[in-house]
Amino acid sequence: MSEYKIETKCIQSGWHPKKGEPRVLPIYQSTTFKYDTSDQMGRLFDLEDSGYFYTRLQNPTNDAVAQKICELEGGVAAMLTSSGQAANYYAVFNICETGDHMVCSSSVYGGTFNLFGATLKKQGIDCTFIDPDASEEEIAAVFRPNTKVLFAETIANPALVVLDIEKFARAAHKHGVPLIVDNTFATPINCRPFEWGADIVTHSTTKYMDGHAMCVGGCIVDSGNFDWTQYGDKFPGLTKPDPTYHGIVYTEKFGKGAYITKATAQIMRDLGSIQSPQNAFLLNVGLETLHLRMPRHCENAKKVAEFLNSHEKVAWVNYAGLPDNRYHALAEKYMPNGTCGVISFGLKGGREVSVSFMDQLELIAIVTHVADARTCVLHPASHTHRQMTDEQLVEAGVAPDLIRLSVGLENAGDIIADLTQALEHI
Ligand SMILES: *Cc1c(COP(=O)(O)O)cnc(C)c1O
Repeated sequence: MSEYKIETKCIQSGWHPKKGEPRVLPIYQSTTFKYDTSDQMGRLFDLEDSGYFYTRLQNPTNDAVAQKICELEGGVAAMLTSSGQAANYYAVFNICETGDHMVCSSSVYGGTFNLFGATLKKQGIDCTFIDPDASEEEIAAVFRPNTKVLFAETIANPALVVLDIEKFARAAHKHGVPLIVDNTFATPINCRPFEWGADIVTHSTTKYMDGHAMCVGGCIVDSGNFDWTQYGDKFPGLTKPDPTYHGIVYTEKFGKGAYITKATAQIMRDLGSIQSPQNAFLLNVGLETLHLRMPRHCENAKKVAEFLNSHEKVAWVNYAGLPDNRYHALAEKYMPNGTCGVISFGLKGGREVSVSFMDQLELIAIVTHVADARTCVLHPASHTHRQMTDEQLVEAGVAPDLIRLSVGLENAGDIIADLTQALEHI
């Protein structure tokens, strides 16, 4: 499928029915798969044959959808997970263990910040957070001999910082570690991080990929470009025998498929955050229109951002699609067709005014979500970041008056009309 354009891949990749098989990807709603002989099944457990035996490890519906996302990103292998959190956890834990260190952009999703900064710490993996706008020298300075991963988001949620992917890829590769990029907000429609040097991409498919706020899910895609064997001592999990699989060496047996095979055969086997085939089916329906939805999200968001930018009651607007935005040049380079539908802004009068403004909205709903068809708002200081003081909020890059607006697919005029009437009330 690699010769087709991305619109065609959204529709056609992943499921290729043979004669007489269903045209539409079926939901293999089965935990188990049947074999004729004990030996046939045994070979699967030895990773001697590939095939399905238990849905925690692999399921045909999930595999077809993972394959589609893999082709959209231009990777060599992919796996679905039950959530974006599980994807980011597995992506890192697949190559880090107790005593290791990782480096992560400080502008990342709150859940990722907690996962790497607090939960992985309890597992003996230390994380240093670095300003994504830091120079290459500053980034290099925080690497240690035991650093195994550099991690960042293409467009940070909710700070909307656009990542200089090439700068991060150079910093990672200079230290012999892969760059993992969470590409949730941009989606492969607007940015394919592998083309700029990223080695592994993760997604919360919960957002634009699903697109309708129906299913929590995640995905990991491997570019196959990182040569684990070149730094074999750093990544013993991939380059040394796995005693839990009769001593197989993933890089020897699976080549470019080593990273995802290990993540499936070992991490998913043991930790088990598999996506349900039912959700994978719905995710696939979402993916079929991703190439139509993303441009409309961007078009609507640009109109809304321009409207807010020119409104007298609005103190500031952050949207990389606006020419005066700090990240406009990076967005033009990495995402020439648009960034995403998420905007943040603040109102004159600060925090209290932001809250009363949101209460006036009629069409736009207050929900803990972003990146779906329905326009929604959230006030991080009152909701997701509620436990933080104003000083802590500023440190985290979340201004106390910040309103996160996820622009949906409704008529842009209707969205702006709702914003207008709510602004009139404050
Ligand atoms: C939402 C989100 C996550 C977490 O994904 P879930 O599917 O909610 O577990 C991770 N990264 C980014 C950028 C997100 O927006």
